[in-house]
Amino acid sequence: MVPHIRRVWHSMSVEQTLAALHVALPEGLSEKEAQERLESFGPNTVVPKPSETIWHVLWEALTEPMILLLIAVGMLYTFWGEVWETVMVFGIIGILIGVEVFNDWRTRKAMASLRELAQPSAVARRAGRVVEVPVSCLVPGDVVLLVAGRRVPADVRLVETVALAVDESVLTGESLPVEKDAEVTLSEITPLAERRNMAYAGTLVVQGRGLGIVVATGLETEWGRIAHQMAELVPEKTPLQQTMGQLAYWTVWAALILTAFTAVWAYLRQLVNAREAVLSGLALAFFTIPEELPIIVTMVLAFGGWRLARQRAIVRRLQAVETLGAVSLIAVDKTGTITENRMTVVAVLPERHERRCLELAVLCSESLPVEVHAQDNAHATEPAWLGDPTEAALVKRALQLGVAPKAWQRLWLPRREFPFDPLRKRMSAVWQQNERVLVAVKGAPESVLACCRWELQHLESESLLAPIAPTDTWHKTESSSSLIQASVVPLTEERSNYWQQLANQLASEGHRVLALAERWMHHVPTDAAEAEQDLILVGLIALADPPRAEVPAVLQQCRAAGIRVVLITGDHAGTARRIALEVGFAPDTPLLTGAELDRLDDAALQAQLRQPVIIARATPQHKLRLVQLAKSLVECVAVTGDGMNDAPALRAAHVGIAMGQRGSDVAREAADLILADDHFATLVHAIREGRLLFANFSKSVRYYLACKLGLVGTCLFGVLTGVGIPFHPLQVIVLELFVDLGASLALVAEPAEGDLMQRPPRDPRQPFLNRQVLSDLFAAAATLFVVVTLGYLSVSGILQTWGHIAFQRDLIAASSFIAWLLGHVGLAWAMRTDRFSLRQQGWLSNQMMLLWALLTLGFLVLVALIPPLSQAFLRHSLTWLHWAILFFMALGMCVVFRLTRRLWTHP
Ligand code: ATP
Repeated sequence: MVPHIRRVWHSMSVEQTLAALHVALPEGLSEKEAQERLESFGPNTVVPKPSETIWHVLWEALTEPMILLLIAVGMLYTFWGEVWETVMVFGIIGILIGVEVFNDWRTRKAMASLRELAQPSAVARRAGRVVEVPVSCLVPGDVVLLVAGRRVPADVRLVETVALAVDESVLTGESLPVEKDAEVTLSEITPLAERRNMAYAGTLVVQGRGLGIVVATGLETEWGRIAHQMAELVPEKTPLQQTMGQLAYWTVWAALILTAFTAVWAYLRQLVNAREAVLSGLALAFFTIPEELPIIVTMVLAFGGWRLARQRAIVRRLQAVETLGAVSLIAVDKTGTITENRMTVVAVLPERHERRCLELAVLCSESLPVEVHAQDNAHATEPAWLGDPTEAALVKRALQLGVAPKAWQRLWLPRREFPFDPLRKRMSAVWQQNERVLVAVKGAPESVLACCRWELQHLESESLLAPIAPTDTWHKTESSSSLIQASVVPLTEERSNYWQQLANQLASEGHRVLALAERWMHHVPTDAAEAEQDLILVGLIALADPPRAEVPAVLQQCRAAGIRVVLITGDHAGTARRIALEVGFAPDTPLLTGAELDRLDDAALQAQLRQPVIIARATPQHKLRLVQLAKSLVECVAVTGDGMNDAPALRAAHVGIAMGQRGSDVAREAADLILADDHFATLVHAIREGRLLFANFSKSVRYYLACKLGLVGTCLFGVLTGVGIPFHPLQVIVLELFVDLGASLALVAEPAEGDLMQRPPRDPRQPFLNRQVLSDLFAAAATLFVVVTLGYLSVSGILQTWGHIAFQRDLIAASSFIAWLLGHVGLAWAMRTDRFSLRQQGWLSNQMMLLWALLTLGFLVLVALIPPLSQAFLRHSLTWLHWAILFFMALGMCVVFRLTRRLWTHP
């Protein structure tokens, strides 16, 4: 076991570090040892898991204003009411609290598991295998691989570095990347910013690769030591949460004023005595205060997040859940999203240079050509490949040809790497053996051809490993031009055009094309410009990546749903056009290259964006410009991205979507949503989920507010006309219980209406409470009002005898209670769909609603049949005729509501 000692790791040699941590480099830790260390050192997380228990949630629920009000009502009942009434009130308060706590607890759990899903993983060597492990499971002694685009997962002592550069600005404030070197051993007093043999948790690998041994995890890391001093980030409220918060705030005041007025007026008009007035006022206040509104929003969003996660779309910012439904333009990457991301080498030209091309490709690989096993799937037959799929495909093909990268590493020293960047569209690596320096270059054909002066013609031995003519010649000569004369000819303009034509031809068949080139030098070049000139063109490699089978159908869905798709790729125009055609873009879809894009002014480009368009040879900067322009067209823009440079576009978009498999940590951090499978279909499913969620949320809130408004109207009417508050306080509390559950759960679980993806996207500028929502809300409130008021007026005979007999208060309360419950079950059912009939939607398709309605109606039957319950809730028996009147009144009004709504609100 490794003792918990803080050491000065940068002043220790690699051997000392390995010995101190009891680990062997080639093997890494065994799984058993790693598990033991995890228990001893704890998880590798900086933010400690919230120590929230269900008791915290219970306490929060108990101290909510609404529950406090309820408890106040309960207390007053204890003094003024009867014993069984008090028991009943507290029983209902108990149920309410139970439901709130259960909901809240489940929501928090769902959010926590979403956070866990979004957690990045690290690549470690365990028991001799390369495995992917969650960052939180890393332990001191783990051997980890560092690659460009990923954050360093823990503090590590580096043991191997190839052109490794790390952005340490989060720790040191230094904005320039720091080059790392595993070979050095530093003095103990070296400041953090100069420890070249260390890489620290939270910093970002921007270039090259490395291997390191984890020396500190979690709060023991340098980042952990400062991170825990920082205040915990309070999650931002989404626009919907803010709107609902404001709505709740204003409604609270309106509700309080109205209920106070109603109670005082009823008392002054001597409709009720002081005790009843106080109890009714409290009960009414408790019913009308929409305290649950913000809770419903959070619950709905979390529920949405959970449903999206089931679709393999992981929400990083809750805001995405509500914005997704409004997306009207998707800017989507090609590789992996539209295509399968299963690259294979399909052709190498000229064939005789195949081996040499692939050797150059292997030497010039930015990502590690290693196979990675998923930890929980250790015996999987097909391991994934770490890093760029293009390079993985090249390495795989090279291995098939018998190229041995390991043999190279024994003979040659990696000296420099000038990584791929989407602007240059090429990369190079510099290797040295004694005084021979080789520059291996690969990249987009036009980019590499522009740097070539020569063309390789004849090879005595294909392999770069064997001494070949150019190299031997070079030994005797000084200039590289004389070195290559034996087997290399100048690349004339004509030949260059020939190669470009060949590349275009391969691209138009849908292939990604790379050109391979080399250069032999006397010294190690200092920068990319020096390395990438006077190159010898060796050949072209074409890679195929088949389009995903489901994409044509999904694109069709997008068209039907009024969502425009812009395909953005760094690939050749020919490749982009061919793949676009294969997945169902119209043959006449406009295609622009990055260069053409640069020549268009904003207005012209905006005009292009009003229709689907394909953008080829694009850079992340082009992507950013497109997103900004699309946003100014008042579009709701979703954009996908994977590279480090995609972060600005991801942040700028309304919904930034990072790729879970290919995505760099920077892209994931900038994104609102992560697609676990990088899949375009998943994105469109997520948009569908977003639309459904918003539609259901709107129904739920409309219904919820309509119930409140209906009740306020009913009570006001009663008080102003001298009938009084037509409910007993206890009844109001029971109503609250049912309304709460009905509104928040049943309508949110409503399945999609059939045309959900056949309608244009929602206009994100429209306020939530727009004209349609408001008119629907008022119509629903009016329906409830009429059902209850007309119900009790006709049952109690007031209509016929108004003013002649004293009102039968208990009969009024009993009938309005029944009318209310029947009416609001009917209304909930009527509000299930906006555009489809209930028959089309399926009468029984929402099981939650069915269950809730059955429970409510079952409760009514029990109340009708069991005398003690009748006595408690109704206080007055009703005849069958009364029941029939109320039932048909509720049914009739709900039918009227649906009919008028069809004519008026939802034509
Ligand atoms: P997509 O949208 O399809 O994912 P992309 O925008 O990621 O594509 P880039 O990775 O920028 O495209 O690739 C652009 C071009 O650069 C490719 O057509 C290819 O010729 C070349 N290229 C891609 N990857 C590499 C690499 N690892 N090394 C050298 N050249 C590369």
